[in-house]
Amino acid sequence: MIIVFKPEATDKHIERVVERLKEIGMTPHLSRGVARTILGAIGDERLLEEHPLDAFEGIERIIPILKPYKLASREFKNDDTVVDVDGVKVGGETFTVMAGPCAVESEEQVLRIAHFLKERGVRIMRGGAFKPRTSPYAFQGLGLEGLKLLSKVRSETGLKIVTEVLDAQNADLVAQHVDILQIGARNMQNFELLKKCGRLRRPVLLKRGMSSTIQELFLAAEYILMEGNHDVILCERGIKTFETFTRNTLDISAVPIAKLESHLPIIVDPSHAAGFRAIIPALARTAVAAGADGIIVEVHYDPEKALCDGQQALRESDFDRLMDEVRRVAAVMGRTVQ
Ligand code: PEP
Ligand code: MN
Repeated sequence: MIIVFKPEATDKHIERVVERLKEIGMTPHLSRGVARTILGAIGDERLLEEHPLDAFEGIERIIPILKPYKLASREFKNDDTVVDVDGVKVGGETFTVMAGPCAVESEEQVLRIAHFLKERGVRIMRGGAFKPRTSPYAFQGLGLEGLKLLSKVRSETGLKIVTEVLDAQNADLVAQHVDILQIGARNMQNFELLKKCGRLRRPVLLKRGMSSTIQELFLAAEYILMEGNHDVILCERGIKTFETFTRNTLDISAVPIAKLESHLPIIVDPSHAAGFRAIIPALARTAVAAGADGIIVEVHYDPEKALCDGQQALRESDFDRLMDEVRRVAAVMGRTVQ
């Protein structure tokens, strides 16, 4: 249910309703919009039928949320959410380019890539310390050592860092070292991990599972939102189809669908969708044109030597071209690139 307050409702009116919802066992989620305050009442809706709120002052309307996802829906919050990553805004007017290597390999590697990206105006760098690999024989990441290197990049360059958190047990540790917790495609329905990240006060980048529907992505986001963390960035990274030319098939419709259905920002990962570098700039341009709030791309100065996903890493010159093209499409879309 959504409880819409009258414009003149006071804090006391709102507080009374919040208290009542808690008493009857529902979870209140407050959203203060520009014009109005809205309260999401999440829980068994029959409780509200048994305990009507008619007598409470300040309430204008009570509307059921018809969608299975509640807090992630536009019904709950009409204004676009802009996620504040320690001063760097994701969503809204800007188009955010997150870039970096697939995996953290060494201090020299991450620092070199970080300085390269910073000079090009990038504000958020990616890099995996814990790598979820299809094969157990493939490079699994540097683990804690990798996190420490990312932390060093962060303090030396001021770049914000996004890295993957693989399990709930490690989430606190990862959160100590980086700015955005990435939940990877393979973990999109790891509900304990979703809930854990929901309890941590760090923005979350939630990637769509390769075999998950868009609705399942919204419901996964719902797990994080329900715990009180409202800083969720969705990510379309390609899904499994019968097509074998690409590693996955970029489902570009996910972008406008997310914009229609949800207030959360959505970015596109053209690297893991494509699986090879030649078509990544085209997918990135498509993402901007479709209305995405950003992209996350893999970059490496020496892809032949990369320990992970070298075939899809953009070389430095490719990245420069991509940025130039993305900027031009973004200008048409009325957005500035960071
Ligand atoms: C990644 O971004 O490092 C990654 C492993 O992506 P995905 O979870 O989308 O496969
Ligand atoms: Mn990768």
